[in-house]
Amino acid sequence: MKRSEAALLKPYELFNALRIKLVENSIPTERGCVEYQGAPNSSGYIYLSFCGVQAGAHVFSFEVFVEPVPAGLHVCHTCDNPPCINPSHLFSGTRKTNMQDAADKGRNGSQTHPASRPRGEGHWTRQQPEKLFRGKRENPGNVLRGEQVALSVLNPDKVREMRIAHFANKETFSSIGRRFGISHVNARKAILRITWKHVQ
Ligand SMILES: [Zn+2]
Repeated sequence: MKRSEAALLKPYELFNALRIKLVENSIPTERGCVEYQGAPNSSGYIYLSFCGVQAGAHVFSFEVFVEPVPAGLHVCHTCDNPPCINPSHLFSGTRKTNMQDAADKGRNGSQTHPASRPRGEGHWTRQQPEKLFRGKRENPGNVLRGEQVALSVLNPDKVREMRIAHFANKETFSSIGRRFGISHVNARKAILRITWKHVQ
């Protein structure tokens, strides 16, 4: 969206436009990440421009689905997957935690043993959660995850309904996409099991 177009919108409309842009251009993975689709930079992060502001897709996602990035802090990944914009995989940390995180994961130049990186429950953010800077988030247990996240426009019931509409009722991907508020591309992916494979 260009600045001239953005000037016509109210703040909440801009906010929603950014949410929709993030949702429409990303694909959930088997590991639970939601990867923004685009050309990564040399560090693997995907930058995008919105209303004249350039930032990593993960930073925009944190801003619109979690909270404004606290001043001076970075947006880091618990999943170590730079294109991931899943809000539940993002946290704000200091430059120090970010560098510590990178060192723990063997980034900082050497990615020689990716398999040896602690992930999931072994990751330092799970082992030492008190080191995480969580901004105003007072009750981490209340953080929405997976399908509860606003990022997931779809849910298993909707996906089943979409598949029936297509295969039984011969409705087109575009028409289904319109009904469910997603693009025909993402409707097609969900229907053809490129995404949402786990839904029977
Ligand atoms: Zn992730």
